[in-house]
Amino acid sequence: MPELLTSLLIWIAANSNLEHDGASLPKVVMASAEALHEMAFGENFPKAIRSGKYKVSGLYNDVENTIYLVDTTDLTTEGGKALLVHELVHYLQHTNGRTKEHELRVLEPLAYVLEASWLQTRLYAWREEVANSVAVGG
Ligand SMILES: [Zn+2]
Repeated sequence: MPELLTSLLIWIAANSNLEHDGASLPKVVMASAEALHEMAFGENFPKAIRSGKYKVSGLYNDVENTIYLVDTTDLTTEGGKALLVHELVHYLQHTNGRTKEHELRVLEPLAYVLEASWLQTRLYAWREEVANSVAVGG
């Protein structure tokens, strides 16, 4: 896990204006979809909205310095690693102090852009993965 985190953090730093100090790493914890939903929205999620509509697949908690990934995430797959890239961007945004209110509007877009760019670098492997999952899973 540390090797994977480090290699993805180096890639993010090379492809953005975020810096990685090369030493510290966040914790990564797998959690159930229900637990993630609770962490993201708390108990105040409007009952009128079906919670299943808002699937949370990952989040970064800056107080605990922990990335939570839904426990169905397979980090040996490109799709799984892309999700980790997204959350690692949030980790670096935090460690780079990019969490001020006026910057909030760019936090998510940058995470999605880097997630997509990373998948682009892994396009062949990822395409095969998606094709196989469609063939098997229907
Ligand atoms: Zn995000």
